[in-house]
Amino acid sequence: MSEVRIEHLTSPEIADALASGMRTAILPLGATEQHGAHLPLSVDSEHADRLGMLVAERLGDALVLPTVRVGCSAHHLGFPGTLSLRPETLEAICFDCCESLAAHGFRRVLIFSAHIGNYPLLSKIEPKLAARLPAMDVVAFADSTAVLDAWRTAVAGLASQVGGHADVAESSVMLAVRPEAVRAERAAAGLAEPMTDDLLARVLTGGVKAVAPNGVLGNPHGMSSDLGFACLSAVANLLAEYAAARYRRLT
Ligand SMILES: [Zn+2]
Repeated sequence: MSEVRIEHLTSPEIADALASGMRTAILPLGATEQHGAHLPLSVDSEHADRLGMLVAERLGDALVLPTVRVGCSAHHLGFPGTLSLRPETLEAICFDCCESLAAHGFRRVLIFSAHIGNYPLLSKIEPKLAARLPAMDVVAFADSTAVLDAWRTAVAGLASQVGGHADVAESSVMLAVRPEAVRAERAAAGLAEPMTDDLLARVLTGGVKAVAPNGVLGNPHGMSSDLGFACLSAVANLLAEYAAARYRRLT
């Protein structure tokens, strides 16, 4: 099947996929939040859209749900336009989507996020969903360090500019996914401090504006669509390998 997005398929096509043994779905999480002066608020959601399709391609037998386009972005509310869900709201959305899938016969769901602010929720969601949906194997990818490392490797010589937000990696991904959305002339460096667990904790509690007044963590300088495709491919590999390994252990 070339189209893997559930919302672009017809119901009979999905029924056929289930009848032929398809049991896996992918739930991408995004965000609607500021990404500096050079990127639109849709970056994480458009990034998640693309990653979802790339992961489905790698898994070979999975359909992709529509990206949840608002996430946990309280730490970006200092910037106009940002929308944020309470963690319990996002958890409820994840549960309701998984419950719908279970009713149709899906048995495995990979939840991942292109927005690091959703990772604290993802790190705790598996046992909660498992308790309420015993027939469903939900795997939530929650290793933001692995994503940042994959980006650093993918951008090679520009690794020191990866800060995790509107940096060279994310800006390059947007150039790969929808180049006309990038206001390149407005790209500016933000916080130069490398992203660590400690910095992430400070950002999540005190807000991005306190550490990076222009909303950028890292530096977008040197961004290119080639680097964006390399970042997308590296993270899609990471997610697909993680899901395949976890599901092998479960079955
Ligand atoms: Zn982002």
